[in-house]
Amino acid sequence: MEERLRQLAQEALKALEEVNTPDELNDLRVKYLGKKGEVTQVLRGMGALSAEERPRIGQIANEVREEIETALEGRNHQMKEAQKALKLASENLDVTLPGIRFHLGKLHPLTQVLEEIENIFLGLGFQIAEGPEVELDYYNFEALNLPKDHPARDMQDTFFINPEVLLRTHTSPVQVRTMEKTVPQVPVKIICPGRVYRRDDDATHSPMFHQVEGLVVDQHITMGDLKGVLAAFARKMFGPDTRTRFRPSYFPFTEPSAEVDISCFNCKGSGCRVCKGSGWLEILGSGMVHPRVLEMSGYNPEEVTGFAFGMGVERIAMLKYGIDDLRMLFDNDLRFLAQF
Ligand SMILES: [Zn+2]
Repeated sequence: MEERLRQLAQEALKALEEVNTPDELNDLRVKYLGKKGEVTQVLRGMGALSAEERPRIGQIANEVREEIETALEGRNHQMKEAQKALKLASENLDVTLPGIRFHLGKLHPLTQVLEEIENIFLGLGFQIAEGPEVELDYYNFEALNLPKDHPARDMQDTFFINPEVLLRTHTSPVQVRTMEKTVPQVPVKIICPGRVYRRDDDATHSPMFHQVEGLVVDQHITMGDLKGVLAAFARKMFGPDTRTRFRPSYFPFTEPSAEVDISCFNCKGSGCRVCKGSGWLEILGSGMVHPRVLEMSGYNPEEVTGFAFGMGVERIAMLKYGIDDLRMLFDNDLRFLAQF
């Protein structure tokens, strides 16, 4: 019996060498140590042994059982380690591999310029006012001293929804709406940024473009205030040594009216391609609010005066970034937009 037990131990250890999976290991355990296993079977025969032999054989049986058990455990541990090593190797990260590049979005150049303009005027104490893009003829034209038969309407031909409703040609209707809401209080000190529409389409005109207009209404507002505000804006926007020049002009809603030029930021006034050799760049229109416009909004032009100005955001962006064709701003070509 002793011999049989020793033999079983040898067999088990030998079989163990062939074991490669947890299932095979378990089968082996059942085969030798299970309830119907080989070692157990041998022990069943112990009843036939003499009283002297029984403890000795029992001890040997325990030794054999322990030996097989230990070997099984050892193999189990080995297999687990091998599996862990395999897993570690397969899940290994190569930190030197190039990553996936993130393409960060950025603001459209028009938005950047618009925000820059807004921030300058907010710094000068202006508030931002907004209004509808689909506008009544009354607010877009009539309340701005442009009655239906006024020839200056030709300057701002637009898209009519019906004879009384149109796509606004400027953000000036927001000025009228704001004055109507504020009257008789003063001051009114707003800028009106937004989309506007006209029937134009070429390299420097688009049927949809952006404006920022400004309006100040208060007691004792003079042309000097207008010049001071716009000169301060020009210095902030185009550099501290920027000079401004006011040229007489005509707008139906201002009197007197002026076009405002700035000294060319590119050549500082000596003449270059950007300014077409003149040294000056036209950037906006302006003037003192026409008394009739104040009147139509409910103000008494004997008591208050005001100034207004308006600029095209596209034109400023084109000047600032040296863009030749306005349409590129709306083509949504990332190769172009990513440059700003
Ligand atoms: Zn120049």
